[in-house]
Amino acid sequence: MENFNEYFRYKDGKLYCEEVPLEKIAEKVGTPFYVYSKTAIEDKINQYKEAFKDYPTLICYAVKANSNLSILKIIEKNDIGVDIVSGGELFKAREAGIPPNKIVYAGVGKTDFELSYAVREEILAFNVESFQELEVIDKIAKDRKKKARISIRVNPDVNPKTHPYISTGLRASKFGIDINEALDAYRYASKLENLEIVGVHCHIGSQIMDISPYKEAVEKVAELVFDLKKEGIELQYFDIGGGLGIKYKPEDKPPHPKELADIVIPIVKQTGLKLIIEPGRSLIGEAGALVSQVIFTKNKKDKHFIIVDSGMNDLLRPAMYNAYHHILPVNKKDKKVVADIVGPICETGDFFALDREIDDLQRGDYLAVMSAGAYGSSMSSNYNVRPRAAEVLVEKDKFNIIREREDYNYLIIPEEKGEI
Ligand SMILES: *Cc1c(COP(=O)(O)O)cnc(C)c1O
Repeated sequence: MENFNEYFRYKDGKLYCEEVPLEKIAEKVGTPFYVYSKTAIEDKINQYKEAFKDYPTLICYAVKANSNLSILKIIEKNDIGVDIVSGGELFKAREAGIPPNKIVYAGVGKTDFELSYAVREEILAFNVESFQELEVIDKIAKDRKKKARISIRVNPDVNPKTHPYISTGLRASKFGIDINEALDAYRYASKLENLEIVGVHCHIGSQIMDISPYKEAVEKVAELVFDLKKEGIELQYFDIGGGLGIKYKPEDKPPHPKELADIVIPIVKQTGLKLIIEPGRSLIGEAGALVSQVIFTKNKKDKHFIIVDSGMNDLLRPAMYNAYHHILPVNKKDKKVVADIVGPICETGDFFALDREIDDLQRGDYLAVMSAGAYGSSMSSNYNVRPRAAEVLVEKDKFNIIREREDYNYLIIPEEKGEI
């Protein structure tokens, strides 16, 4: 069997993360658990740094992809910034030591509480998504006697050719301000005294495998930047969002950060603005896997089921997007079967794979759901009153628990004081 990537490899039929056998972690930590390769994350960060090194660029990791505090500390240690979408993410980013001047904040529904918090923290920029939000930020900044730095998130109306639920730059989507209304939005913002206009933002979608929609989007936004210049509105930052795809299937060939750099830098350069990029999935996705144990196997009519101890509460992507995740046995077997690999949750959508050819795994065997580092643990829940999984960080031959498995007591703490 081929290795899925250079960080998850087989040695003598056993699957390793870096130099640690996954079986060893499973025996120590129990299952299910998420495991991340620190080297994979840092290699990816360095690929981005290298790709954009000849142009002033701030990399802002999209926290929603994986918001584990230790992951954010890796982000901080590598001197890059973050893109946040909530007050909670701001709190965690600050806890991890990420400086406010490297934080940008997007989202269509920022509450007054969240806006006040971010104004107080003096973040680099609010990526504003409506006229009303401009007005509210101005008022909050005034009350706090601060100036809030803003960019406007424009919706360039391009199709990123990805899953409809993660296409965010089409006109009909809820995100951003229509590019045709953007001039008006900037004019309006320029009249608000407590705002400082610093940039323009767009984000067209996620898991983008074909780079050409970026060109289309960035060209459209560059036109806007020139129009703004004519009106005397000068910007500093051109934020192109995130969205680069990753390998989910062995045959997937996602674009390299260098391809993104090569296509966007020449356009952004003409505007003279500094670049901001917001990769999420592509920084962390392939660095992580979800490891589970087989609880039971069973046959029904002509179907074979492998039932594992993690489910859609741990990894929602197959149920939510019908997403494909490659699945590898932690210890290889000689025989193969075709199976549905399913979780224990009381929903038919609770599967990781349907009709998948896989090693003939038995009760007690372990398997790894690959490319689960992004939108895995961060989208997990306690559905079916299941404690959330542990998370483990591997570096070379060492591993550390970076999130303890929740226990039953933890699950009732927020409800304990309820009265009937
Ligand atoms: C989700 C999101 C990102 C990150 O997207 P990826 O596909 O994970 O790279 C970046 N910017 C904004 C505004 C987002 O909402």
